[in-house]
Amino acid sequence: MQITPYIHALKTPLGPDPGRFVYVYLIYGDGITVIDTGFNGTEKLITGYIRSTGRDPSEIRLIILTHAHPDHTGSAKALRDLTGCTIAAHPLDAPSIEHPDPMLLKPPAPGMQSLVGGGVPVGRPLEEGAVIDCGNGLVLDVLSTPGHTPGSISLFLKKEMALFTGDTVQAPGRAPIYTDPVALVRSLRRFAAIPGIRHYLPSHDEPAQGKETYQRFDESLAYIRRIHALIKEAAAAAPGTPDPLALAGRLSAELELSGVPGHHVAFIARSIEADLAAQGLDERLGE
Ligand SMILES: [Zn+2]
Ligand SMILES: [Zn+2]
Repeated sequence: MQITPYIHALKTPLGPDPGRFVYVYLIYGDGITVIDTGFNGTEKLITGYIRSTGRDPSEIRLIILTHAHPDHTGSAKALRDLTGCTIAAHPLDAPSIEHPDPMLLKPPAPGMQSLVGGGVPVGRPLEEGAVIDCGNGLVLDVLSTPGHTPGSISLFLKKEMALFTGDTVQAPGRAPIYTDPVALVRSLRRFAAIPGIRHYLPSHDEPAQGKETYQRFDESLAYIRRIHALIKEAAAAAPGTPDPLALAGRLSAELELSGVPGHHVAFIARSIEADLAAQGLDERLGE
């Protein structure tokens, strides 16, 4: 689907449940810039889509990975092998992109091997303040927005006032996944302070326009606040040291998360662990 004259959004499935998907975004400049790549195999959808718009996959010059999770990096290797394009990502997430090993993920995620087509070298490290020229006056500003992962980045295309947020804005009703809730809240507030966003382009939620963008940021903040309150309450009620894995089951039930894959419970437990260890989260949420 075309979002603007230069931006296309491709909704790609993450398994049979239609509620689970990841958006791949394409920027049509001089060449084509791909933002995130879906699971292994998604390359066929991406190349098919590009051809359906009258362009050619060989025009892909750059793949930007918002972070190292398999649902974003899975088909990067196949696309790179096909086109010889460069891969760009933040240095903190680059090791997992270059050497994807599900057992090195925190927590380990066995069974995810098949989701990534292989490691790829990150030829272009992207840190805060980096600028990517896509041609046609299309310039992407790189924002370091950690929290979901340490090396999560977002991209702002000023010409279209479009913000690509990866997984940083966690939508209510989805499994909360983060390594640092304090950083995550800071990243969300940073988004909310950007004036005049016209197009909000997240990975696991539908794109939004204008004012609705800022509502999504508010909803995500409220969601994290609610999760934090539930964790605090559950931890206070449990005797002894709280067990994140036990709390994860309870949190999933309270948040009425449905269709959460098994390995996500371990990720939710990791988020709970990060929440329990966070310093200054109450102050940050109350700002
Ligand atoms: Zn992710
Ligand atoms: Zn994701």
